[in-house]
Amino acid sequence: SIPLGYFGGIGAASRQGILVKGANFLDALTGLHTVVFDKTGTLTKGVFRVTQVVPSNGFQENELLAAAAAAEVYSSHPIAQSIRAAYGQEIDSERVSEYQEIPGHGISAVVDGKRVLAGNDRLLHREGIAHEVCNVAGTGVHVAIDGTFAGYIVIADEVKPDAREAITRLKELGIKKIVMLTGDEEAVARRVAEEVGVDAYFAELLPEGKVAKVEELQAALPDRRRKLAFVGDGINDAPVITRADVGVAMGGLGSDAAIEAADVVLMEDAPFKLATAVEISRHTARIVK
Ligand code: ADP
Ligand code: MG
Repeated sequence: SIPLGYFGGIGAASRQGILVKGANFLDALTGLHTVVFDKTGTLTKGVFRVTQVVPSNGFQENELLAAAAAAEVYSSHPIAQSIRAAYGQEIDSERVSEYQEIPGHGISAVVDGKRVLAGNDRLLHREGIAHEVCNVAGTGVHVAIDGTFAGYIVIADEVKPDAREAITRLKELGIKKIVMLTGDEEAVARRVAEEVGVDAYFAELLPEGKVAKVEELQAALPDRRRKLAFVGDGINDAPVITRADVGVAMGGLGSDAAIEAADVVLMEDAPFKLATAVEISRHTARIVK
């Protein structure tokens, strides 16, 4: 049977906007050793802003932006939202066909009869399209139109106001290892990692690469009572959330799949809530034992 104190713990957590889906996860939180954060939308706001449009090969700035915005018409990725916002005009989705979202890469779609690719370096490389590298601070969304590189769009995200404080608090609570994973570029990842103060980061990971990294970090745990938590916001994060000892989803921007897969849901989009969850779990453990 479940000791009554656990209900108190789960109740206390829920009053803080922390949904714990079982007493066993409260126990696991008590023994956390490693915390792995996804970058975009978890440590950063996930609200991107277009800061620069850099056309190439004779394309016009607006042509580039218009093609990318149309190709991204069906995407719910924060990158797509920012590109559509920068374009600022209504997009008739009838102009878009063969839409395909390629996880960890970007989008492929036919816009007004032309094949448009919008995504990272890896996407254009995979398609064998010669392109420039983005050497501006931020994430570069590279665009190709009918197989020709048309330029790139620079997008910037911001670190959440409580991210650094959350990591400091988790360290004070005795969490030994705090890691950030991202599909984003190395340079962007390094800047965010330094800003928030994680112990390590791994960039340019595909969704399955994140799962493999979590498994590797789990294998490195010192003993079976020490656990690993992964905190993600959604899009493509469900497999990693499932794999972690404690899978945590952020409710605010989180996708339904992530919330479904999670053991713990943070209703507020605040990394600091994970530290609060650990504190509640410790308090509960003292009452139960
Ligand atoms: P993260 O790991 O930072 O949460 P994702 O796994 O969602 O990021 O995406 C990894 C990378 O794939 C992004 O940084 C971006 O370069 C590219 N990408 C993903 N979806 C899109 C999209 N809809 N449009 C353009 N690029 C995208
Ligand atoms: Mg993500």
